Amino acid sequence: MKLIRSVKEMQGASATAKRGGRRIALVPTMGALHDGHVALMRKAREQGAAVAVSIYVNPTQFGPHEDFKQYPRDLDADCTVCVRESVDVVFAPYDAEMYDGGAHSHQASTWVEETALAKRLEGERRPGHFRGVCTVVAKLFNAAQPDVAVFGQKDYQQLKIVQRMVRDLCYPIEIVSVPTVREPDGLALSSRNQYLSAEERAQATVLWKALNIAADLFNEGEHNAHRLETAMVRAVQLAPAARLDYAEIADAETLEPVHEAQRGNIALLAVHIGKTRLIDNLVL
Ligand code: AMP
Repeated sequence: MKLIRSVKEMQGASATAKRGGRRIALVPTMGALHDGHVALMRKAREQGAAVAVSIYVNPTQFGPHEDFKQYPRDLDADCTVCVRESVDVVFAPYDAEMYDGGAHSHQASTWVEETALAKRLEGERRPGHFRGVCTVVAKLFNAAQPDVAVFGQKDYQQLKIVQRMVRDLCYPIEIVSVPTVREPDGLALSSRNQYLSAEERAQATVLWKALNIAADLFNEGEHNAHRLETAMVRAVQLAPAARLDYAEIADAETLEPVHEAQRGNIALLAVHIGKTRLIDNLVL
């Protein structure tokens, strides 16, 4: 496995692989790799391509009071996972490679911004988040020149926005998605789960429970979205460490809220467990 730390070298490695007739599959991550990321790597491998995993904690997608500084970073451990998964290249660029002037610079004056899907839900609560995501994904695409890029359904709104960005900007890249990998008790794997105390970890199952309550009610014939949302709110309130950010039933393509829920709509949740903000979703 090759560890690459500069954009130029990454572009060179991609060009060489392509001249050799290989397709390239990119798995963008922020590191602190877990089995959710591993599922993405395996999906990338299934594409019959050389697999590149990018590891970069992107400063521009964090708000000023968010966890950029604390975000877990362990490149050695991440590389061990990638070697085990037969990844071809780990692309872990230095900040100065990605943003002229480094992580804390606001000197970049070119941004990529999706303006419809990014308005609501996460976009509303985390202003600038998706602008940072789209910008860094565009940079990673330009560095790795992938034929395929793999994203997780765990970050559902992000997946939809990236699909839209690829269409709008004519990137010749196929976006492949992978279902959310969960702990046995339903908690979606996330690098941020490391922040949870034992007590908070036990209560964090409330997201999955609330989503399933909504799905069960829907399957029993309750199609009023407001009542489904209220059921999720009540379920979250049962966990003392939990503070709800949003609970919504939305159209799975437009992410607009619905009044009458239909099969294929998506239930989305964001919940603070203590100081840790977690998100999850479930298709009805
Ligand atoms: P992150 O490192 O958290 O930015 O995530 C990198 C990629 O992994 C994104 O496409 C996420 O949606 C995906 N991902 C994160 N957690 C999971 C999970 N539990 N199951 C599947 N994919 C995931």
